[in-house]
Amino acid sequence: MSVRSLIAGNWKMNGLSGALDELDKLKRLMARGPAPRADIAVCPPATLLAAASRHLAGSGILTGGQDCHPDPSGAHTGDLSAPMLADAGAHFVIVGHSERRTDHGETDALVAAKARAGQGAGLVPIICVGETEAQRQAGAAGDVVTRQLAGSVPDGAMDGPGFVIAYEPVWAIGTGRTATTADIAAMHGLIRSLLVERFGGAGAGVQILYGGSMKPDNAAAILATPEVNGGLVGGASLLSESFHAIISAA
Ligand code: PEP
Repeated sequence: MSVRSLIAGNWKMNGLSGALDELDKLKRLMARGPAPRADIAVCPPATLLAAASRHLAGSGILTGGQDCHPDPSGAHTGDLSAPMLADAGAHFVIVGHSERRTDHGETDALVAAKARAGQGAGLVPIICVGETEAQRQAGAAGDVVTRQLAGSVPDGAMDGPGFVIAYEPVWAIGTGRTATTADIAAMHGLIRSLLVERFGGAGAGVQILYGGSMKPDNAAAILATPEVNGGLVGGASLLSESFHAIISAA
């Protein structure tokens, strides 16, 4: 089955209001070339989400949140709910990013609850999985990702707006190191087979993104790897030129 690609930028905790200029530049760069062959999204910090959604309205570039609380509302100071992200114009929500799993002790069960909450608000969750360097060196990468996938993708995830998987080896995030295309192909193949095993034929249509130091100079090779249906891009999504170069490689 041919799966349309998705290139999603994760700005993390970067960007004041001036960063919205990058979105205008991105729109201009994209308007100069042919229509992209991939879906495009930017996930700015929550403070910029509503403004980014307004800047990008009608451009075909979607927005997403970087996290959500599992509850729709309530006494959770500092948290944001999925309906709030949808209200700010988001289409996607990233859940289970390794930085949240590490910094905030998020478990697979919590990630699944967040994904379910995102879907309940009409958002498409981008569910992140990936092994640490120690786990890979111990030969446990496949087992770790298998366990994360089983625990972080909620039952019934195929209903409603669907979901996206991002395979992000933790040791490749923000380090300038990437997995080899052979290792990426092996892990994406494993993820695909697990999705098909659990969800039947529908699992063949789920977008599986690679994330971890994707840059303009390595994007084409990674994006051409079997079962890679796009990328979750951190650092290189902050500047419109480098993000556009990755979009062009898709
Ligand atoms: C990420 O944060 O999801 C990511 C892939 O970051 P980077 O591209 O900077 O490694």
